[in-house]
Amino acid sequence: MFMRVDKLQAALPAPRKADPNAAAALQELLGGKYGEMSTLGNYMFQSFNFRSKDKLRPFYSLVASITAEELGHVELVSNGVAMLANGPDNDGDMASGGDISKTPMEAMKDIRSFASFASAGGGALPVNSNSMSWNADMVTTTGNVVVDLLHNFHLECGARLHKLRVYETLSDPTGREVCGYLLVRGSVHAHAYALALKQITGVELEKFLPTPNIPLDKIPECQKYLQEGSHRRLYTWSPNDYKEISGIWGNGEQALPTDPPGELEVVDGMPEGGKIHQLTGIPSAFTPDYAPEEMFEIATKLYKASR
Ligand code: MN
Ligand code: MN
Repeated sequence: MFMRVDKLQAALPAPRKADPNAAAALQELLGGKYGEMSTLGNYMFQSFNFRSKDKLRPFYSLVASITAEELGHVELVSNGVAMLANGPDNDGDMASGGDISKTPMEAMKDIRSFASFASAGGGALPVNSNSMSWNADMVTTTGNVVVDLLHNFHLECGARLHKLRVYETLSDPTGREVCGYLLVRGSVHAHAYALALKQITGVELEKFLPTPNIPLDKIPECQKYLQEGSHRRLYTWSPNDYKEISGIWGNGEQALPTDPPGELEVVDGMPEGGKIHQLTGIPSAFTPDYAPEEMFEIATKLYKASR
């Protein structure tokens, strides 16, 4: 089962301006080959299909618990995409309809991913930076534990490559923060899969890291996560389950030599996270439409009745 918490895994700063092309670039980290939809899909189906779960508990629990984190990454990147497309936090114009004869959305015809506006109202979709659909061919679930873990190690290193390239294209703080947080967490996942493979095969795969060979201390947005020790933590994302991952992540294992030193630790549950920014209505794009004032009044009454 999954439980849902109404927060983002990390606090994102509001964008300085609306930049739908930056939002399109960030889509690569959502629906690209190595995006969050891919890591989620791989670990989720591998965990569903895992053979001998009881006998291979620490390895099953590793894939199962990271699945939950990846679902939160999908949520984080999706919020980042929509925030960049929509611009700074504001109270919005809650009016309905209005005069659309003066082409209020003329600028949108020149954005790279026009469909993100035309079809999704400036929100996120499971597509890459060129609006090509994410697809199920990006899921690998062989049933062979070593092949699956090795695939996951490759996937996290490939994701790091894409995150670094997208990071190099973004100047806005929102997109850079998404990349900074995901680079730290992706390093944890690559490291965790390497340690799992080392337990099974004896090969010290963690010596491959970091791949690509640029340490996290070169990325300003990674610093606060390194200082708080995020690079040394794996979460269970569960009140009681998946604790067995401490046999792989822990057990005297240390942070990578290029990161701040310390022992690896498993944390029960999830990080504190940050707020979800409001996406306010855009009357000329017919969101949320119907009769906004009336809907807000109805919602307020329902909210009060529920307390
Ligand atoms: Mn991820
Ligand atoms: Mn990951």
